[in-house]
Amino acid sequence: MESPLLKAVFYILTFGSIAIMFWQFIGPMRFWMKGRKLTYRPKYIKGILTYVVAQRKVMGSRPKEGAPLHLLIFYGFLALLIATTLLAMATYAPLLGIKNWHQGNYYLAYEAIFDALGLLFVAGVLWALQRRYRFAKESIPPMPDPVTGKLNHSKNPITTEWKDYAALYLLLILGVSGYVLEAARISSNPQPWDHFSFVGYGISKLLPGLTPQGYVLIWWQHMVWVWLFFATLPQMRLKHIVVATLTAAGTQESPMGQLPPVAAAEIESGEPLGAAVASDYSRWHLMSLDACMSCGRCTEVCPAYNVGKILNPKQVVQDTHRALRTGEPVAGIVSEEALWACTTCNACVEACPVLIRHVDVIVDARRNLVSEGALTGTATVPLKQIAGTGSAWGQAVNEREEWMTGLNIQLARENAKFEYLFWVGCAGATDPAAVRTTKAFAKLLQKGGVSFACLGAEESCTGDPARRIGDEATFQNQAGINVEAFKKYGVKKVVTACPHCLNTLKNEYSQLGLQLEVVHHTQLLANLVEQGKLKSALPARGKVTYHDPCYLARVNNISDAPRALVGDKTDLDSGAPLFLRELTTEANHNQNLAEPVNKGKKTLCCGAGGGRMWMEEEPNQRPGNRRAEELIATGADTVAVSCPFCRIMLDASLKQISDKEINLVDMAEILQDANS
Ligand code: SF4
Ligand code: SF4
Repeated sequence: MESPLLKAVFYILTFGSIAIMFWQFIGPMRFWMKGRKLTYRPKYIKGILTYVVAQRKVMGSRPKEGAPLHLLIFYGFLALLIATTLLAMATYAPLLGIKNWHQGNYYLAYEAIFDALGLLFVAGVLWALQRRYRFAKESIPPMPDPVTGKLNHSKNPITTEWKDYAALYLLLILGVSGYVLEAARISSNPQPWDHFSFVGYGISKLLPGLTPQGYVLIWWQHMVWVWLFFATLPQMRLKHIVVATLTAAGTQESPMGQLPPVAAAEIESGEPLGAAVASDYSRWHLMSLDACMSCGRCTEVCPAYNVGKILNPKQVVQDTHRALRTGEPVAGIVSEEALWACTTCNACVEACPVLIRHVDVIVDARRNLVSEGALTGTATVPLKQIAGTGSAWGQAVNEREEWMTGLNIQLARENAKFEYLFWVGCAGATDPAAVRTTKAFAKLLQKGGVSFACLGAEESCTGDPARRIGDEATFQNQAGINVEAFKKYGVKKVVTACPHCLNTLKNEYSQLGLQLEVVHHTQLLANLVEQGKLKSALPARGKVTYHDPCYLARVNNISDAPRALVGDKTDLDSGAPLFLRELTTEANHNQNLAEPVNKGKKTLCCGAGGGRMWMEEEPNQRPGNRRAEELIATGADTVAVSCPFCRIMLDASLKQISDKEINLVDMAEILQDANS
């Protein structure tokens, strides 16, 4: 391009289209800045490397087809971006007195490698287009029915917009026109080494004897598509390329099971807590809302939505986004009914490819409702019971040690020397079925020679139900009591049979300055089995199925240990991409358990979390019923659990939906049977 006028046109349009793109992001940025300042220093580079470069969320996402497809497009796009940047740098290097290095062997390798990588990009876009047409009515393929495993097309209410096709066609045109441009250069100015650009070289055979003017025309048409891409990107789902990158860079990397902290001073001030309006959320949370691509993955997996409740996590994100623009109260736009319907199961958070933390958004809105006195009905029962007795179940303090009768359990207050503190939990000390787990586990610890003690009457509710209902004051009060007890007895290691207690002790007490090593009882038992101190249980093949609790499998990545107790080896907890993990797990490892459709991190919620255990539920809207259907569909006659909350909910659901005699037991009881 020799003409100064054409050069000027090129630079004006290139920088102009980029400026138009950034200008369209300024409006949203102004809204993000209305949020609370961050209380942490983001690790920008780590966030980008983990979530953008390594695509960690995409690797673990469903559906299976979506992950490889996105990886092709992403890495293909990245390769083209790097190729263009290298070319531009080499072209402008002489202005700085550096020789243009785009020649010799480097040039040949550059042409061959980036020609090949560009094919990945085109293939990925073609695959995505084909998938869009195949599922024309849905934004993504529908999830399988939990019982039959068949795709349920009526479940996904999201339709594909014309802009979604336009975005994919634009990407396709960019990829293909890049090759055509290369072919035009080869045709108009052939060189002996052109075959290294093997794709462009092949296409050049279709453009024999192109004139230099023809090449220039093709060059300009390619640039038109590039400018169009920059200028329209913020108007399409493709905007996530920018916003999701910023979201990844600014993420805190806090555990999935950790809610945002509330300063003690805020509670003491007596002012309303949480998010009344959207600007009460942090700037990062507000920015993440803009990364939403309306893909609907969060809604697909929501147990509340899937039993016909008003809660729709995608809608929560979009309504909160709207609340930010209008200034209306969050609870007004999202609706209180939707906010209270959430079980905080984190299925939506796990499914979201752009790191949105729906549970933070929902619980922060609940905090405001609770501090404004809007909580009524049975949800207030556990809060009153915790405040009155220190037990969410309302058990009197002097009854906390009743389960120990005849078991010779050491108590920390009796100057016991111990390695593990066995945290029993409110349910484990009260609910008759959960007490069976507690006793079985204590006997196994004794048989396995583990040094342990309990707090007994000094144990008080962790505060988990209060925190997830939104009563932060009660949570912090409970945490304060327990942290004191841990410090008094120098507790470093904790084992518990309750995944909710595990999550709070492990992930949330650190916000109050206490670091503990917390393990689930199935993990400690699996270790004892591995060391040969206990025998594993080997049930008849297919007779036992296992329900993964959300707060164990999804939130704390513990799925292999419970399975190891019955001799099954899985790699559900490995960091391998989900679509590969599923293939290997399905194919080889399971010997004894009859696995349900949804397992591991993809487990279906029983409906108890987030304080839902104590809230009124329409019998036909119990998430536990859907899970019970899936468990029954395995054909097993024993359902094994590893959470007292799940056990209570599934007991009710199994009885409601089936006349079949189903044995509901904790994994510890199965192991106890094998070792007695
Ligand atoms: S946490 Fe669970 S119940 Fe709540 S919105 Fe997300 S998927 Fe639905
Ligand atoms: S919140 Fe996440 S999972 Fe849900 S629609 Fe938006 S991008 Fe998709």
